[in-house]
Amino acid sequence: MHKNRPVVWITGASSGIGEALAEQYARQQARLVLSARSVDKLEALATRLDCESLVLPMDVTDFGSFAGKVEAVLAHFGQIDILINNAGVSQRGWAEACGFAVDQRLMDVNFFGPVALSRAVLPHMRARKQGVIAVTSSVMGKVQTPRRTAYAASKHAIQGWFDCLRCEVWKDGIQVTLLLPGYVHTHLSYHALDADGQPHGKMDRIQANGMPAERCARKMIRAIEKGKEEVIIAGLQERLAAWLKRFTPRLYSAIAKRIPVE
Ligand code: NDP
Repeated sequence: MHKNRPVVWITGASSGIGEALAEQYARQQARLVLSARSVDKLEALATRLDCESLVLPMDVTDFGSFAGKVEAVLAHFGQIDILINNAGVSQRGWAEACGFAVDQRLMDVNFFGPVALSRAVLPHMRARKQGVIAVTSSVMGKVQTPRRTAYAASKHAIQGWFDCLRCEVWKDGIQVTLLLPGYVHTHLSYHALDADGQPHGKMDRIQANGMPAERCARKMIRAIEKGKEEVIIAGLQERLAAWLKRFTPRLYSAIAKRIPVE
């Protein structure tokens, strides 16, 4: 009965891209696991969505809790078809001002969280010989700008870990998809950490002018369905940045030093 209704587990489902992913998958009548720390927002989303869902609050830095979370999903739905490691936090500040605590926090949320949760889900997917592990990386997983040292590091690390993982798990029928948005209109800049490790609390202009989250989510789902290994979902400016970095890195470096990022 449930054959065509995949179980999709989305982290960071309480806001922005994750919330939009949940809305799109709900239209496909997927069965959803909605995770983030804001229980009230997740519950409101689950009530709004016209599909079967499980609200599973979690902090993606509470690595020791993940085995229990996987068990809870399996007890409820019996399977996990797609895991989308989407929760993340950005940065607004110069490297020296931000300090090591911000470096560690961003690596914990953006890198070790997806790694540890994917590790917890992998044995189940391997046993079934199927499954998709997707990760919301970023164009910042490919390029550099000022004021994003820790954020770019965490997203570059994602690229490396999951690219290598793919080389190991494809034989077991497991797909690994890296999703690289450019600027998307979400609350990312509100929640981004400033030099004091506090939320920036502002909607940056470039964020407000970003792609609508619904459009980004639609493209992400299409990439997953098509079995893509990696996809850049971005406007011309960010796609050009990725292209220049790849093919003319010295030119990109000269430009990047002068990018007036907020
Ligand atoms: P939002 O700030 O709107 O959403 C971030 C989500 O991550 C929230 O649901 C938040 O939920 C969750 N989250 C943050 N920290 C934790 C944590 N410790 N444990 C569990 N959940 C957490 O931003 P976006 O929707 O834009 O961000 C989603 C992803 O997209 C991120 O990985 C981001 O890096 C990436 N991205 C975004 C871009 C953009 O321009 N918006 C561009 C490129 C990549 P809660 O606070 O309830 O825990």
